[in-house]
Amino acid sequence: MDWFVGVVCAVFGLAFGSFANVVIHRVPAKRSIVSPPSACPACDSPIAARDNIPVVSWLLLRGRCRACRHPIAARYLMVELGVAVLFALVGWRVGATWALPGYLLFAWTLVVVAVIDGETRKIPNRLIYPLTPALLGLLVAAGLLTGEPGWALRALLGGIAAFAVLLGIALISPRGMGMGDVKLAAFIGIGLGYLSWGHVLLGIFGGFLVGGVVAILLLGSGRRGRKDMLPFGPYLAISALLSLLVGETLIAGYQRLVGLG
Ligand SMILES: [Zn+2]
Repeated sequence: MDWFVGVVCAVFGLAFGSFANVVIHRVPAKRSIVSPPSACPACDSPIAARDNIPVVSWLLLRGRCRACRHPIAARYLMVELGVAVLFALVGWRVGATWALPGYLLFAWTLVVVAVIDGETRKIPNRLIYPLTPALLGLLVAAGLLTGEPGWALRALLGGIAAFAVLLGIALISPRGMGMGDVKLAAFIGIGLGYLSWGHVLLGIFGGFLVGGVVAILLLGSGRRGRKDMLPFGPYLAISALLSLLVGETLIAGYQRLVGLG
C-alpha cells in the first residue's frame, strides 16, 4: 500500500520541486516568491504555462529558453527530479500517516537549504524562521492525532537539544560553523526527534561524518586547500535525510553489533 503513497507523493514532488527552484533562485536575492511569475533569467521573457511543466518542459526545450535559447541550468531539472524522488521515498517510508505532511515539508526544506547553502554559503533566516515552527506544529499535531503525545514532546526536545549541542560547538570552534547551521540543527532535531533520540544522534553527528569524509577526499585529491571552508549545511541535510529514510535499519544494525538488540 505504501508504494501507492509513494507514487502520489512523487507527483506532488514534481510541483513542489518546481516551487523549490523559485525559492532557491529568489530568496537569497531577497525577491518575492509569488510575483512576478517565472521569467527567463537571461532575457526576462515570461515563461508560459506550457513551458513550465516540471521536468517535461526542460527536456522538450532541451534545457533552453524558448525565446532567447539561453541555456537553463541543469540544476532546475535536478532539483525537480530530486524533490520528486525524495517525496516518493518519504511517502514509502512514512506511509499514509498524520506525520506525512510534516515529513514532506522536512524533506523539501532540506533540499532547498542545502542547495542555497552550497551556492551562497548562507542559510536564509527568511526560510528557517517560518519553516521551523511550521514543522514543529505539523509534527505536534501528528503526535496528538496519533494518540502519541510523547512523540510530539520528543520532537520539541529534539529540536532544543540539537540546537544546544551545535550552539556549543559553534561557540567553542567558530570556524566552519555558523549560526545558520545551528538553526538548521534545531529544524532537523524536531523532524528526527519525532522518530527517536537515535535518529537525532544519527542525523546530527552523521553530518560531521559525511562532511569529514568529503573534506578528506577533496584535500586528498588536491581540489581544495585547507583554507577553503566547506559549507556544513548540505552535509547536515544529507545525513538528516538518510537518518529519516534508513535510520531504523542503521540503528538496529548498530545495536546488533554492540550486542544490545
Ligand atoms: Zn530567455
